[in-house]
Amino acid sequence: VSGERARAAVFGGPGQPFELAELPLPDPEPGAALIKVRLANICGSDLHQWRGEGGSPIPEGGRVLGHEMVGEVARLGAGVRTDSLGRSLREGDRVVYPYFYPCRRCPQCTRGQFSLCGHRLDHYREPVGRWPHFNGGFAEYYYLRPGHFVFRVPDQLPDELVAPANCALAQVVHALRQVSFGPGQRLVVQGAGALGLYATAVARVQGAGVIAVVDASASRLQLARRFGADAVISLTECPAAEERIRMARELTGGGADVVLEVAGVPSAVPEGLEMVAPGGAYLDVGLLGPDFTVTFHPARLLRRNARYVGSNHYHPIALAEALELLVRERDRYPFEAIVGRRRPLAEIEDAFAGADWASREAPARVAIDPRMG
Ligand SMILES: [Zn+2]
Ligand SMILES: [Zn+2]
Repeated sequence: VSGERARAAVFGGPGQPFELAELPLPDPEPGAALIKVRLANICGSDLHQWRGEGGSPIPEGGRVLGHEMVGEVARLGAGVRTDSLGRSLREGDRVVYPYFYPCRRCPQCTRGQFSLCGHRLDHYREPVGRWPHFNGGFAEYYYLRPGHFVFRVPDQLPDELVAPANCALAQVVHALRQVSFGPGQRLVVQGAGALGLYATAVARVQGAGVIAVVDASASRLQLARRFGADAVISLTECPAAEERIRMARELTGGGADVVLEVAGVPSAVPEGLEMVAPGGAYLDVGLLGPDFTVTFHPARLLRRNARYVGSNHYHPIALAEALELLVRERDRYPFEAIVGRRRPLAEIEDAFAGADWASREAPARVAIDPRMG
């Protein structure tokens, strides 16, 4: 690897075009791995960052965006022989990994709560000019830091099914566990993007009772049905919040045990809170924008002894479980419909503009394949 260079799309900040840079390829340290990126999706949080709606501050010289991805091992650092489940790992194997790095040296990590580590996104602040340079998915390579969690991808799963696993799918697997979602329980999902569609399938696999999905797009709602939704509520056909609340309560027989917010729209909150059953939970995954604000009446929540639960990132095992779910359920649900066609790295600007539009319709994801040139 010494002396070799590879391409990366560097993001300098909102409103600035991506810059294709040739960066020096890092030799992996002991315990690390150099990954050749096969597919990296444009996730909703990449779009937030691109539009200037928050996210991690962009370091001097820019940053390589992209975190929802699948790659293959190009080079293993000394001492790496297995993945995180103890299965042999070799150069050429396809792998997925969490895109955040728990520090393992803080009180949260010490409790094993890796998704709570305050340092887990520190690598986003590293300037692109600093070794190991390859800290994001929109590049030919990605540097997997020493000792990180990594999972070999089962051969039968195509890249398109696997690429969203380390963000959208693992996120909802973990989030539903946080509220102890279980068999027979009623779920309302606000937003039928990738997260909402996955949550619908995961809940269905787990034996959910009624599942109702709310969205504005007819194509997405149609897809939600194929992912296991019993009922859909269209924001277009039903523009009044009061009416949607009434419908959701009726469909769930008085309210949902869990209302999941994956729409990323603040106005979803006061509406969704009214859909929560007594003793239920409002599970918020989507409202990560730092400037989002919401007004609601706490008494409405308190009187029903309901909980407001925030969820961001996941325990690494959720990613292994996501892969297992894909292997078992791939014929039952249209997972292939989540990721649209591949675009080369050179078209990233256009791909982001397209994703900005596509994020409101199905399919939910636009994918970059850096091997296309
Ligand atoms: Zn993401
Ligand atoms: Zn930590």
